Amino acid sequence: MAHDAPQATGPGRLVIRNIGLLLSGAMEKPILDADTIVAENGKITAIGRAKDVDTAHATTTVDAAGTTVAPGLIDSHVHPVAGDWTPRQNQSGWIDSYLHGGVTTMISAGEVHMPGRPRDVVGLKAMAIFAQRAFWTLRPGGVKVHAGAPVIECEMVEDDFKELAAAGVKLLGEVGLGGVKDGPTARKMVGWARKYGIQSTIHTGGPSIPGSGLIDKDVVLEADTDVVGHINGGHTALPDDQIRCICEGCKRGLELVHNGNERSALFTLRTAREMGDLSRIILGTDAPAGSGVQPLGILRMVSMLSSLGEVPAELAFCFATGNTARMRALDCGLIEIGRSADFVIMDRAQHSPGKNILESVQLGDLPGISMTIIDGIVRTQRSRNTPPATKIAEIIAGH
Ligand SMILES: [Zn+2]
Repeated sequence: MAHDAPQATGPGRLVIRNIGLLLSGAMEKPILDADTIVAENGKITAIGRAKDVDTAHATTTVDAAGTTVAPGLIDSHVHPVAGDWTPRQNQSGWIDSYLHGGVTTMISAGEVHMPGRPRDVVGLKAMAIFAQRAFWTLRPGGVKVHAGAPVIECEMVEDDFKELAAAGVKLLGEVGLGGVKDGPTARKMVGWARKYGIQSTIHTGGPSIPGSGLIDKDVVLEADTDVVGHINGGHTALPDDQIRCICEGCKRGLELVHNGNERSALFTLRTAREMGDLSRIILGTDAPAGSGVQPLGILRMVSMLSSLGEVPAELAFCFATGNTARMRALDCGLIEIGRSADFVIMDRAQHSPGKNILESVQLGDLPGISMTIIDGIVRTQRSRNTPPATKIAEIIAGH
């Protein structure tokens, strides 16, 4: 099913019933008192108790079997290239594998692994527009890949950003991966991007591959991107005092990635918690990369931060859902009426010592996924990648 018309959203009426635990994605109220969700034509239309919700005329009915439903996970930092193939480790099907790890939306931080990537202004603009179009047309497995994230170069002028925005480009790739590595130039171009509605991120920390450079706290704070990309390094992190300076010196998103320094991720988490700023924490894998691709990377981050960082699991899931959706103005990531019907259904992994899914994640285990849904359409059933769930959701009517 990977490649056929994945953008289709209906018409259809999806009912998910018998939900045991409903995670909202919202830090202010991470658990909802509801056991039923209805979605029509790809959007959530009702959330509540079965007796209070009209569940008639469903085209698809899913029995969650008392397990957990959460918003589909969002990977805030990926490096796609073309379709479901990456040249970085020469892998095919990596996006579909992420779907089996619960990821339903991905944000490109630059299509930097494109063989022969153009660095002249006309070429980089053309490539960004091409990537945006191509990934919006082809969604591997149904996964929404927001791509078309140009890596800025010193020769760019304001009109280039205006032109990119008019052509549908909504993101910048990581500042620092191209020729712009100084604070003043980065700040000027990030300002142009923002003026035309283009979001920005930056490569924080030491170089990731030969040719990329060190981006320290002074450049990060001066550039003032919307997201502090991999504040825990990609992979080499800044020293703790610089990470603290960044957390305290701005109000931007604090992105923690799997392909980064785990100790620095925990330091960032504790700093943000001290500041009462956990809503700034968002998660990515920063894959494909030198350490490969991680289909379970977002789940592993949730589990690592919850267990070692001592964050209740229901809040750690917000880092990978609602926080990212809000920061990046996405219409998914939260269980709210009107949002995209993108869900992951999961349960405590078989033989995990926790007595429920939240306890098992807080003990450092991964949950087992039994279903993913994007735009109200069931995309996968029992995950081929997670440990098996104790109880699984099933389609009981419809197709
Ligand atoms: Zn990076």
